[in-house]
Amino acid sequence: MVTKNLYTISLVAAVTLFSAACTATKPQEMASAKTDVNIPKNIIMVVSDGMGPAYTTAYRLYKDDPNTPAVELTALDPFLVGMAQTYPAPVSGYVTDSAASATALAAGIKTYNGAIGLDVDKKALESVLQRAKKIGKKTGVAVTSQIVHATPAAYIAHNESRNNYNELADSFLDDRINGKNVADVMLGGGWNYFIRDDRNLVAEFKALGYQYADSYTDLLALPKGKPTLGLFADKGLPKALDDSNPHRLSVLTESAISHLENVNGYFLLVEASQVDWAGHANDIASAMSEMEDLEQTIKLLKNYVDLHPDTLVILTADHSTGGLTIGADGDYRWSPEFIQNMKASVTMMSEKMMDEEDMALYVEDVFGFALNDDEKNRISGISIDMTPRARESVLKSVLDKRTNTGWTTSGHTGIDVEVYAFGAGAQAFAGNLNNIDIAKKIFELLGDVE
Ligand code: MG
Ligand code: ZN
Repeated sequence: MVTKNLYTISLVAAVTLFSAACTATKPQEMASAKTDVNIPKNIIMVVSDGMGPAYTTAYRLYKDDPNTPAVELTALDPFLVGMAQTYPAPVSGYVTDSAASATALAAGIKTYNGAIGLDVDKKALESVLQRAKKIGKKTGVAVTSQIVHATPAAYIAHNESRNNYNELADSFLDDRINGKNVADVMLGGGWNYFIRDDRNLVAEFKALGYQYADSYTDLLALPKGKPTLGLFADKGLPKALDDSNPHRLSVLTESAISHLENVNGYFLLVEASQVDWAGHANDIASAMSEMEDLEQTIKLLKNYVDLHPDTLVILTADHSTGGLTIGADGDYRWSPEFIQNMKASVTMMSEKMMDEEDMALYVEDVFGFALNDDEKNRISGISIDMTPRARESVLKSVLDKRTNTGWTTSGHTGIDVEVYAFGAGAQAFAGNLNNIDIAKKIFELLGDVE
């Protein structure tokens, strides 16, 4: 059975590879591909929510060493294999939300904006994570949003609306009881949805044999190789700029892998959830620090694949957010040096600054550069009557002007996104793809169930 599956998968991979190279293929050659490195045992899908090409370029410039003439590559750059189109089902037009695009990436079907693991007729769809579970692999998610947020939810659950967080949390557990579920490891935020007045899902998961951690330190102390639930915040995790560990996604990813490794392999969804949130907020400093956490995670995964060449890593975005522009308003300049020394997010600053005697001095300290007179005046003019959001807007406008960053929207945009891949089977993801192709190719690599 397993051998037959492997043979079938090898055939698919071999045909794809050899036909792509326009090489005549003899049956023996295809058979010899059976133990081929192109069939991954472990698959790690990384979604960087909201990360269009402007983000990966901006991040490269943000990390550039200005003392060398060339712009240095990031840890992502070497693994670029293609692009993906992101549009949802026709009923939702051309611009996707994260639920429809996550369902496309997870299940290979275009659906309406807001759908979690359902098609346009609200029929439940099998995700690649669920298929992996079905064929005996372990499965997990490691994200910086709440674990019931659209992207992880589309891999685990089915619901007509992404906003039904409590129902989604319930289904994570109830499906498990019904033998349908799915995720052996779930790491991210979400106390609000799992520990409620009407139900304590953490206690119920513990009763089912899950170990539980609610701090990064506790997580690292847990025994390896066990079903694990880790929730570290009410909703999403603190912003990378404000968190106790700015590289928390790489910590969660490394931990998830340690609980998932087994002889049959695993499927892990990793999500850099908050690149999108920074894009919605038009917050360039947070966007870059969330990208930094993603890059750290990719470095970790590259080292892992070097040691475990039977592992495939795919990285893509579900869409782009904010209409981020590098060089705004006709000025051919982008100056990331003004966000390279931030000590806290503008959101955190908008709260803390009201306790400061000299707000301008405080802002200079947290921004890491001296304000000019105009900036000092604008910041000194911030009053207690302004909402935190309005205060934050003043701070962001200072940074946008200094860096010359532009934004066109507080929502998503319809542009194509990059696809990166490395490890076993990576070449299958090369070229101009549709987002649903990514799931279809993962299904192929997992093999037929029957
Ligand atoms: Mg998301
Ligand atoms: Zn979004």
